[in-house]
Amino acid sequence: MVLNELGQKISQALSMIQNAESIDEKVLDACLKEIVTALLQADVNVRLVGKLRDNVKTRANNADKGAGLNKRKIIEKAVVDELSSMLSSGVDEKKLVDLKKGQPNVIMFVGLQGAGKTTTCTKYGAFYKKKGFKPALVCADTFRAGAFDQLKQNATKMQIPFYGSYTETDPAVIAAKGVEEFKKANHDLIIVDTSGRHKQEDSLFEEMRQVSAMTKPDLIIFVMDGSIGQAAEDQAKAFKDTVEVGAVILTKMDGHAKGGGALSAVAATKSPIVFIGTGEHMDEFERFEPKAFVGRLLG
Ligand code: GDP
Repeated sequence: MVLNELGQKISQALSMIQNAESIDEKVLDACLKEIVTALLQADVNVRLVGKLRDNVKTRANNADKGAGLNKRKIIEKAVVDELSSMLSSGVDEKKLVDLKKGQPNVIMFVGLQGAGKTTTCTKYGAFYKKKGFKPALVCADTFRAGAFDQLKQNATKMQIPFYGSYTETDPAVIAAKGVEEFKKANHDLIIVDTSGRHKQEDSLFEEMRQVSAMTKPDLIIFVMDGSIGQAAEDQAKAFKDTVEVGAVILTKMDGHAKGGGALSAVAATKSPIVFIGTGEHMDEFERFEPKAFVGRLLG
């Protein structure tokens, strides 16, 4: 995974600080230069990278003034803190992930076609099933042929009940019926998969508004292909402006150089990233918490 390479490069840069006899401006600059290069290569937003460098420098220079403080530790901590805040939206992700059991949590998924919505809906259901929830899946994607069959197949594999229709053409009607049925059956997590389009189109946005109005979701999750790099910011903004996107899941964070681009671009829209998809299998799905993520990234 390319993000691991980024982590290794930053760790290597930090080891320059750890191995130096004394930490002067030259050592710090050399270390920061390597970190900046690594971040830019991973396509992290240029503006954010510049901010990180300046903030770490300021904190290192302030450390010079404090007596008896361990400068190495201060610089390391500054880098970790700045990376975490760069990937953080400022919204508490935990609140969005800690769903309450025993009440019907209706979660609507939106995103472009091919982003990984249908796959992610099932991964998400399976994640909460392991935690003792009673998930159910509703297929409100009437646009893509085969969408219902795909959802059915995934849901069956993970033993999650599902609802859909081969004849009803109005996605809002299907969504409302499915949600109603699963509420009656006391499911505490009802996941609504919606249609995508190849690009941001008015018809998609209108459909999203209708499904949202009919199902009154507790949370709308925007699913985005994590490999699209800097374009992520624009796309996330367009979806956020249409419906009340409360959280983001980035998919395909396995094996693509642009992973850093999506992470930083989405964070810049103040959209909290709650999970990342790291493969096609149902268990290739992880929680995203900026601090823990950076910790793991740097090993
Ligand atoms: P949808 O059109 O948004 O519902 O997208 P799908 O769920 O059908 O996914 C499109 C393709 O992306 C499928 O081939 C999935 O297996 C694949 N996919 C989804 N999530 C991931 C991921 O995290 N990593 C990888 N490598 N592939 C993924």
